Amino acid sequence: MNAFIGLGANLGNARAALVSAVRALSGLPDTRFVKGSSLYASAPVDASGPDYLNAVVQLDTALEPLALLHAMQAIENAAGRERPYPNAPRTLDLDILLYGTLELSGTNLTLPHPRMWQRAFVLLPLSEVAPERVRPEQLTAVARQRIERVAQAAEWIALPEQKQ
Ligand code: AMP
Repeated sequence: MNAFIGLGANLGNARAALVSAVRALSGLPDTRFVKGSSLYASAPVDASGPDYLNAVVQLDTALEPLALLHAMQAIENAAGRERPYPNAPRTLDLDILLYGTLELSGTNLTLPHPRMWQRAFVLLPLSEVAPERVRPEQLTAVARQRIERVAQAAEWIALPEQKQ
């Protein structure tokens, strides 16, 4: 299944955190990295602290949505994520944006991600990786949010040999 993952970090070495997160996601069981977006810097939305670095990656995974979510939470925890209060600055934030075309509204998982349509830092990188999943008017709706591209995909994503 195609899964699109949103990555964000705004503490410590945020770029290094995102690079390791892409590696960790690509190394999940029954999972293959398909492609990644450029790296973006964005002003915090509903959150505090310094600017965020953000990106979106597409995975091809046989993990079920909840198994994927739990695996992503383990990656966040390994990155030293603490949750002292809601929307606190974070060393690593991973969200499932889309899992195929699945629509789900559960206690632990809502798909598509419920707040993704309000966020330029999600929609811009997502539209790069999967232009067919974002409509032009959705991009227009977030066009006033400050976001800038800081590195192209090939510059920041350095993956080890892909497993076949
Ligand atoms: P956060 O602390 O911002 O990472 O929020 C994570 C919480 O959001 C977890 O308790 C998840 O169960 C929940 N959640 C709901 N939908 C999603 C989603 N699509 N991707 C990631 N987390 C989700």
